Amino acid sequence: MSRADRVADRLAEKDVDLLLVTHLPNLRYLTGFTGSNGMAVVGAGVRRFVTDFRYVEQAAQQVLDFDREQAPQDFVTALESGWPEGRLTLGFEDEHVSVRAHARLRSVLPERIELKAAGGLVEAERAIKEPGEIEKIAAAAALCDEVYEWLREQGLVGRTEREVAFALEHEMRRRGATDPSFPSIVASGPRGALPHASPADEPIERGTLVTLDMGVRLDGYCSDCTRTWATGELPDELASIYELTLAAQVAALDAVRPGPEGREIDAVARDMIAAAGHGEHFGHGLGHGVGTEVHEAPRLARTGKDALVPGNVVTVEPGIYLPGVGGVRIEDLVVVTERGRDVLTSTTKDLITVG
Ligand code: ZN
Ligand code: ZN
Repeated sequence: MSRADRVADRLAEKDVDLLLVTHLPNLRYLTGFTGSNGMAVVGAGVRRFVTDFRYVEQAAQQVLDFDREQAPQDFVTALESGWPEGRLTLGFEDEHVSVRAHARLRSVLPERIELKAAGGLVEAERAIKEPGEIEKIAAAAALCDEVYEWLREQGLVGRTEREVAFALEHEMRRRGATDPSFPSIVASGPRGALPHASPADEPIERGTLVTLDMGVRLDGYCSDCTRTWATGELPDELASIYELTLAAQVAALDAVRPGPEGREIDAVARDMIAAAGHGEHFGHGLGHGVGTEVHEAPRLARTGKDALVPGNVVTVEPGIYLPGVGGVRIEDLVVVTERGRDVLTSTTKDLITVG
């Protein structure tokens, strides 16, 4: 079954006859189209793809299983016509359609077509990776491992966080990445207590922890990996939160398999960290899906209700953040298999010292 067939099979979940796909990563997933202006309609017997004149040639090469149409640049006007007979419910991706775009859609569509919020259908399909997609994510993860290996040799002490972030993004591109999958985080000393600190123009000092969080985009797929390294002898407080974070991370990784809901995996790490008295110092979710976008379904968080299934690719990234002191986060990328899991990240998690 094609991806579009699988999504068409899910339309009943949202009580719609057709789905209008406008979110570009979803459009790309369904149709293969990599341009920046296009939309698709999917339903029983309907595979409609619309773009403007700039992308007609590209679409002819990339979009093979859809009926292609050329519309003006304001291509929503194409939806005035071309619909199957009768009264129909058209789902739209409500997480990605602005209030203005919705009003415009309503004004263009024939009255017999009802609009209904139906987001998440393509995302649900995207969360279950095909073998070829897992290979691409594994390659992106391996490239991230290489960059960590390289950075370890370069050293950290005395360089500014910004300089290190820039250097590693340059290095990932030099090794074939299209770009970073998100802005790299380099957070040392007390700044390590800010989970999403932006790299500062401050030198990295000896005898503290440095949290490095980076990922690459390669062949359309993302990776995401965090390591926390020491820059010398550590105060006991930091050494002990490292050991605790690592123990929680390994326990949660071991719990990854088909069956549990995201929140159950989250709880494995969270309960361990809370039992050690650091519950309030772990304020974010345990992990997230990774694919063509660096944050996608399913979520491993207190609210994550999707049960894991084979083909999910998720991060497991607990952290402990001590305000004014420092922080630790350790993140691996893992694929859910029929029987358990395969960890795609291979950079060591032993507490290493990088001078
Ligand atoms: Zn990350
Ligand atoms: Zn992450």
